[in-house]
Amino acid sequence: MHPSRGSLSPLGIDQARLTSGFWAERQQRNGAATIPHAHSWLERTGWLGNFRLAAAGELAPHLRQGREFSDSEVYKLAEAMAWEIGRGGDAPLDELSIVVAAAQEPGGYLNTMFGRPGQQPRYSDLVWGHELYCYGHLIQAGVARLRTGFEDALTATAIRAADHVCVEFGAAGRQFLCGHPEIEMALVELYRVTGITRYLDQARLFIDRRGQATLPDIELGRAYFQDDMPIRERAAFDGHAVRALYLASGAVDVAVETGDDKLLAAVVRQWERTVAARTYLTGGMGSRHEGEAFGDDFELPTDRAYVETCAAIASVMLSWRLLLATGESRFADLAERTLYNVVAASTSLDGRSFFYTNPLHQRVTGAPMDSSKPWPRASSSERAPWRDVSCCPTNISRTLASLGGYLATADGDGVQIHQYASAEVRAGETGLTVETGYPWRGDVTVRITETGAGPWRLSLRVPGWAGEATLVTPEGTERVRSGYAGVTRTWRVGDQVRLELPVGPRWTTPDPRIDSVRDCIAVERGPLVYCAESVDQDPAVPLEAVAADRSAPVVEHPLPALGPDAVALDVPAAQLPVSANGWPYGSHGDGDQEVGTLRLVPYHLWANRGPATMRVWLPQRRG
Ligand SMILES: [Zn+2]
Repeated sequence: MHPSRGSLSPLGIDQARLTSGFWAERQQRNGAATIPHAHSWLERTGWLGNFRLAAAGELAPHLRQGREFSDSEVYKLAEAMAWEIGRGGDAPLDELSIVVAAAQEPGGYLNTMFGRPGQQPRYSDLVWGHELYCYGHLIQAGVARLRTGFEDALTATAIRAADHVCVEFGAAGRQFLCGHPEIEMALVELYRVTGITRYLDQARLFIDRRGQATLPDIELGRAYFQDDMPIRERAAFDGHAVRALYLASGAVDVAVETGDDKLLAAVVRQWERTVAARTYLTGGMGSRHEGEAFGDDFELPTDRAYVETCAAIASVMLSWRLLLATGESRFADLAERTLYNVVAASTSLDGRSFFYTNPLHQRVTGAPMDSSKPWPRASSSERAPWRDVSCCPTNISRTLASLGGYLATADGDGVQIHQYASAEVRAGETGLTVETGYPWRGDVTVRITETGAGPWRLSLRVPGWAGEATLVTPEGTERVRSGYAGVTRTWRVGDQVRLELPVGPRWTTPDPRIDSVRDCIAVERGPLVYCAESVDQDPAVPLEAVAADRSAPVVEHPLPALGPDAVALDVPAAQLPVSANGWPYGSHGDGDQEVGTLRLVPYHLWANRGPATMRVWLPQRRG
């Protein structure tokens, strides 16, 4: 999190603390509900028990539980606990760390899937075995602990594993790769916190080694693991979305630390193309179920959108790195869109069930879910408490626990605020508080609570969706445009700055090259994407043939069932003529028929009131 070069410097999570509102509530729920929930499922499924059996020398192959990457869920939960403790919360991390550390073998090797009598040998299946991927998450957990001021069994285990990787896979070691990128950014993060350059060197080796056709040419092609071409030559993100975005994050980390501006420019170029042609309105990425992958340009189906929660988290991690490297607001804009419309959407309001895929159109209500067992499939119309592949819940948990770190940065000129939430921020001699009802309301008030003697600049991001905003400072009132607006002055304690963002509802139209939603419209309000959910609609308003009338005003209503500040939107609805002769092609008559009102709710809140159908994009009323 703390690069040695770049435009902006991040703050520690003890320097930027969420105090109340949208994200603070989710962060508290994460500590109170999601972390204990994930911990209990790791016990129930035996994924944590694998470590105990390994330490006792009793992990026979038939006793090992879970998929080949299940160790990583233990590490991601450890990382979530580390950030939770770092922000002042409580979690039983010491107990977890001791279990993990006891399973590590002499020399630093650690994986419960490989190397024991009856198991496959170590590093015999780097293509699918996820051994280096798992180390990546172990190292990130150790880094979270080090960043929050602790050295313990977890940090020692992570460092031993990283040293082992540098020997085994270094310049004189195995010239191979893990099928799933992740360790690259973890090694750079460990370099940043320890100053030991061999971790950075190893990360660079892994980045340069990928794209040399080291991995096999599988049915999905080497693009699945980004091994089809060097990352420097790629035009857009391709293949498995989480792998592509983790790799790109690691590449940015390597580029920043080694001064490799060409590598950084290559990733920025890929980000631009991907945002322009391969990203959903929600910020979600990955449109193919096959290979959990990016599609071609403008291949963005709404009902078959894959949009894995982990890909959204990886996208936020990448955008954050690009923001720090460049200081450009477009990266914070995408992070905001993705946080509110995929990361927030993925978790239920009680913090105990999770979407894996996040489609923009749900055509059928699913069967009721048996919440006593892990759900076997990625997609469903309801959030599942746990899955056989349960990468997303622990990923959400570590993200929410560390979310304060994404709010603000500092540089030689002053302090920049990128994401809006009620918070306390400290950077050097500067202290400030942020108060806001965002995203429901658009006013953001920043109050200076501490300041040094000289002048410095306070910068506030005006999101791209806003176009313009009003900034009220001690110097006066001005209209400001998207990007960073601010004021440089010699501040005094008690000075205030207010940003007024226009969060009213607005219609959004798609690029006509996105065939799946051509001629449709959607509604956004501030940073939130809205959707129509069947549970809100009159039976006369069928979602499968509804049309919205954008010429009529959108009416706001409180939505107390989904939160004290939540806002629903009503628009006039018409029914489109449909086929009646058993053949859905040809002429279906003409003239839409007005049938009442369509109620829209924030997409991130859908599926919290029982099984439902849902759609974000709405056909337009033809008149
Ligand atoms: Zn996932």
